[in-house]
Amino acid sequence: MSAFGAGRMLRAVAGRGWRPRSSKPAPSAHASRPGAGFSFELTDEQKEFQATARKFAVEEVIPVAAQYDKTGEYPLPLIKRAWELGLMNSHIPESCGGLGLGTFESCLITEELAYGCTGVQTAIEGNSLGEMPVIIAGNEQQQKKYLGRMIEEPLMCAYCVTEPGAGSDVAGIKTKAEKKGDEYVINGQKMWITNGGKANWYFLLARTDPDPKAPAGKAFTGFIVEANSPGIQVGRKEMNMGQRCSDTRGIVFEDVRVPKENVLLGEGAGFKIAMGAFDKTRPPVAAGAVGLAKRALDEATKYALERKTFGKPIVEHQAVSFMLAEMAMKVELARMAYQRAAWEVDAGRRNTYYASIAKAFAGDVANQVATDAVQIFGGNGFNTEYPVEKLMRDAKIYQIYEGTAQIQRMIIAREHIGKYKA
Ligand SMILES: Cc1cc2nc3c(=O)[nH]c(=O)nc-3n(C[C@H](O)[C@H](O)[C@H](O)COP(=O)(O)OP(=O)(O)OC[C@H]3O[C@@H](n4cnc5c(N)ncnc54)[C@H](O)[C@@H]3O)c2cc1C
Repeated sequence: MSAFGAGRMLRAVAGRGWRPRSSKPAPSAHASRPGAGFSFELTDEQKEFQATARKFAVEEVIPVAAQYDKTGEYPLPLIKRAWELGLMNSHIPESCGGLGLGTFESCLITEELAYGCTGVQTAIEGNSLGEMPVIIAGNEQQQKKYLGRMIEEPLMCAYCVTEPGAGSDVAGIKTKAEKKGDEYVINGQKMWITNGGKANWYFLLARTDPDPKAPAGKAFTGFIVEANSPGIQVGRKEMNMGQRCSDTRGIVFEDVRVPKENVLLGEGAGFKIAMGAFDKTRPPVAAGAVGLAKRALDEATKYALERKTFGKPIVEHQAVSFMLAEMAMKVELARMAYQRAAWEVDAGRRNTYYASIAKAFAGDVANQVATDAVQIFGGNGFNTEYPVEKLMRDAKIYQIYEGTAQIQRMIIAREHIGKYKA
């Protein structure tokens, strides 16, 4: 642990005006009161979160991001620093020693971290995804034990749902858990697990009802699994197209014994917990995509002001300036989409529709804007000496993880059409 301990930093931050907030709506924040009027103005606290994350991204992440991308090395020093600054695990409730920030505030932080490097942001976001089932469904002991330790030390956790044979079709997972006495015995294989090789514990979804006709809402159970349990084999780090410093792995579970105390909510509740977590984690994923798109827009704009062709800066060619205008429109609208989705869930309302709109739209925007940034850089855009090819590679995953672009559209269509049928 560095001399700059987490407790000290969090206290210092709170002393500067960062007030811990429970996940319940806070009466003072516009982000939390439906009907309290409409405002785009951030509170002073929110501005402070944003400014701290921005400073960290610009001063500490950007200078080393290309090197981490090149080596694929896990960005542990950056993660420790983010933890010290209170920029990760920010949604852990105050009862467990966390800041208990709302989704809106977490999203503001995430956008800034992603502006620096989405590989780093995804590693950090992997914690939020792993923790969210415990936040929404964990009992007091489970929360204190597993969330509390994330506040005491800069530890990682992971969300283990996807398998080699089932990603979008979550109900198709084959990992099974059999009750034997006071324990469950878990056998199966997970795939594409962010923080898979770095996690201290996992949220794991497994089938507990062997009847293939059992409905998804009853057939699966959510477990907290200690990563050092005997029978866990962590696979090699996957070499991905982008976000290369993030740790993605397959994990095999062979006769892994988990005490029944580590079941979340109860046998059969797992599917709803695993899916319910997305209402709170998709807005931050969308915010990450916006951070990447904003970075691409900034890089492209600076380049267009400097690069000259036909005797003038390329920004003075209308074709280029209109591309920048389109990119700016997309960034602004994608930001509004994630803010709406976050606001809804912080206000205690079901936000599934807005979360999927934000995730799908921002994921597409990140890809379009990063591609346009490469175009504006011309040949230089295709080269690793310039920042935008990394952004283009990094962007792709936003259309895949936490529900693909197609799955989001299925959810949006279902929610939309459902309103007409009701
Ligand atoms: C870098 C990375 C990190 C990840 N991190 C995690 C993690 O931490 N934890 C975790 O559990 N998972 C994680 N995942 C897994 C990710 O969520 C899945 O890859 C994703 O949900 C898609 O599943 P799949 O890969 O099995 O694709 P498939 O489900 O096989 O889909 C293949 C294609 O078919 C489309 N498709 C599928 N079904 C339909 C349909 N009904 N209608 C229309 N189109 C459809 C999809 O949109 C996609 O284009 C990660 C993946 C990656 C690559």
